[in-house]
Amino acid sequence: MDDDEEVVIIGAGICGLATALALHKKRIKCIVMERAESLRNVAGAAIGIRPNGWRALDQLGIGDNLRHTAVRLKRAREISLDGGKKKELSLVPWDGEARCLRRKDLIDTLYAALPLGTVKFSCQLESIKLDPHSTRPILRFIDGSSNRAKVVIGCDGGNSIIANFLNLKTTKMFPSSAIRGLTNYPNGHLFEHEFARLWKDNILVGIIPVDDNMVYWFCLLPYIPKDEKIWVDPGVIQQVTLELVSDHPQEIRKMIENTDMKSLSITHMRYRAPWDLLTGSFCKGTVTVAGDAMHVMGPFLGQGGSAGLEDSVVLARAMAQLGLNGFESGSKLTVHGVEEAFNRFVKQRRMRVARLSLQTYLTGMLWGTSSFLKKIMYIVLLILLFHNQNGHTDYDCGDL
Ligand SMILES: Cc1cc2nc3c(=O)[nH]c(=O)nc-3n(C[C@H](O)[C@H](O)[C@H](O)COP(=O)(O)OP(=O)(O)OC[C@H]3O[C@@H](n4cnc5c(N)ncnc54)[C@H](O)[C@@H]3O)c2cc1C
Repeated sequence: MDDDEEVVIIGAGICGLATALALHKKRIKCIVMERAESLRNVAGAAIGIRPNGWRALDQLGIGDNLRHTAVRLKRAREISLDGGKKKELSLVPWDGEARCLRRKDLIDTLYAALPLGTVKFSCQLESIKLDPHSTRPILRFIDGSSNRAKVVIGCDGGNSIIANFLNLKTTKMFPSSAIRGLTNYPNGHLFEHEFARLWKDNILVGIIPVDDNMVYWFCLLPYIPKDEKIWVDPGVIQQVTLELVSDHPQEIRKMIENTDMKSLSITHMRYRAPWDLLTGSFCKGTVTVAGDAMHVMGPFLGQGGSAGLEDSVVLARAMAQLGLNGFESGSKLTVHGVEEAFNRFVKQRRMRVARLSLQTYLTGMLWGTSSFLKKIMYIVLLILLFHNQNGHTDYDCGDL
């Protein structure tokens, strides 16, 4: 064995970094192993955070730092541009705190709050198995090194090796994709402090100001583009988006023309079926998953990242409640204690993420289907199950 560690987190995305920070605050030593060579703080451009996400960020002690980076959003407005006419479909005031953060600000802030050296880059996990004698997880990395960890937390995203080890059902793909980008307006933009959703021919363009100069936009397509080059070439992504919005108002076309090319990306959206969340075993011994590795969902409610932040708080609290905290606590990490903490964590998260994921799924299916009957069915289910469509933002993950 090359190295042995106590608590190993796989993946330095939002959830992995947040979990490391939550554990650090509870004085539980951990390391994060990330396959990329450096922080992945550009992909995805920006992320909307509603009140439930802010509660988690405040528990992590970084809410105030991040508040300064983004303006507060007052409402959501939905507009139809079909038939060449602008028609307001809905206007919903947002009472609680809602802001759209640059992913870079969020990831960099989480990283900066961690002790130096917590994240180890260029460490791509290849496989995980249990030592038949000690039942301790053995992590093997693609560079040939291995690590016998006492505890493993898989925050390795929607295509997770740790989730496979736990025998979770494979994630599924929505028949749709999302293009995202950031546009800077050096002299300020004229967009309102709101989340605007513009519909035209079943293509959704979303616009959210980050601050008075920066705007985050996305475009949801109810199909997967066939052109292979779009997945790697920002120039092609921009061209495709411009074609999609060719008869949108001029300010939209200009916004896409002036996008920061580095921020452009396209994603094929994945989800874990809500019913699989109800039945899946999210921990085995001292191994568990959190964030997208547990509950990857479409972006239709903009809650996947915040759910990962909530996970981090609940997971670290469960470990501390069972007395597993204290920096010099190596010996405190008993297999039995960790198992109990993970069971507690999963129990507290299961219904929350299953409901979030179901609402996201129904919202995504409603948007993606062209069948009138199916649309009615999804609307009825949404009304029956989620009559307060913003109720999910009231969730409080509790104190760390
Ligand atoms: C179009 C779109 C819009 C969205 N908008 C919002 C929004 O507005 N608000 C919101 O809250 N959420 C939103 N989300 C969801 C949000 O982006 C995700 O839920 C969140 O980024 C997941 O974070 P994570 O850390 O769990 O996973 P990831 O961000 O996927 O991070 C996983 C990390 O693990 C690393 N990794 C993977 N495999 C290995 C391995 N084998 N070895 C080592 N490292 C590994 C990866 O390199 C990566 O750094 C959106 C998603 C999409 C697709």
